[in-house]
Amino acid sequence: MNCSTFMKKLDDFIEGSVSNDLKKAMEEHIESCPNCRELYEEEKNINEMLKLTLDVEHIEFKSSRGEIMKSIDKNRYSKNLFKKMYYHFKKYSIPYTSCVALIVFLLVISPWAMKKFNPNVISGSNKQSQKSLKKEGSYSLNKENKMDTKLSSVEKPTVFLDENYQFQKEKGKVPSFNTSWRNSPNGKLSVCIEGIGPYAQEEGIGSIVIKDNDKNELWQYNIINNKKQFTPKQVEWLDNENILIIIGFGHGTVTKGGNLYILNLNSNKNYIVYDTKDLKKEIMKIEIIKKDGTTELKLPMNIYEDDNYMKSHVENLTIHDFKVIFDK
Ligand SMILES: [Zn+2]
Repeated sequence: MNCSTFMKKLDDFIEGSVSNDLKKAMEEHIESCPNCRELYEEEKNINEMLKLTLDVEHIEFKSSRGEIMKSIDKNRYSKNLFKKMYYHFKKYSIPYTSCVALIVFLLVISPWAMKKFNPNVISGSNKQSQKSLKKEGSYSLNKENKMDTKLSSVEKPTVFLDENYQFQKEKGKVPSFNTSWRNSPNGKLSVCIEGIGPYAQEEGIGSIVIKDNDKNELWQYNIINNKKQFTPKQVEWLDNENILIIIGFGHGTVTKGGNLYILNLNSNKNYIVYDTKDLKKEIMKIEIIKKDGTTELKLPMNIYEDDNYMKSHVENLTIHDFKVIFDK
């Protein structure tokens, strides 16, 4: 068992819905891998917290844990929130029903609130982006989360949805285990991925390094709060200030790609461009085709066909007329 498979199956494991063989393999992995053990402990605590918090006064919740967790962005909402809520209930004994009402209220209002209070979220002009804004935590470990967009060559321009990850920008060092430098269209900047080898295929967590060719300065972007160990896997210049990045799991041999993000080097904000919404579907490569003033993104996607991540095929996703629209 490797870490990537472990993470993919963790929710099922906690729910107790894995086969005996898988259960055994996962228990062995917990024993041998401190990172995954920590992740497991945290998820287990959240699960218990939720059960305790929601299972009050015999009120039955129709939603399963999976559905509840899906509505919560685990990366954004601190796990302490659950602890605090729980202790609060214990300590002050607010009438149970109003607690439940409060939770439901928080769950319902959170996507709206995040949008409202986060001025950096870019809002789209089409329905698709409105819908996607609610889907925070794109890497939620939920395999029922099927992709609702059909893969086809008629994808409409994707507008940026939300910020799932934060990069931290800091002064960079001269990279030593990096992909080759790629120049921006005007040649002022160069970019590479440092830390996971010349093809960004070694296991581990890489960072994005930007070089200002005039000033000879180096900047490094690292994903912060990176509990689930994501890493950039490919980076391409969209224009002189935006780079497209594939971000996927940093460990595990079955992972071939990830989701597509954009990072604006002026504002240092990053947004998701395309979320496959399914751990079995990963964008493997970014191809940018510019012609007649429009930009087309070709995104070959690896799709696993079975639960053991053995069999896969590739489908091509094309985003026509891709535009960057920043909400001022
Ligand atoms: Zn592990």
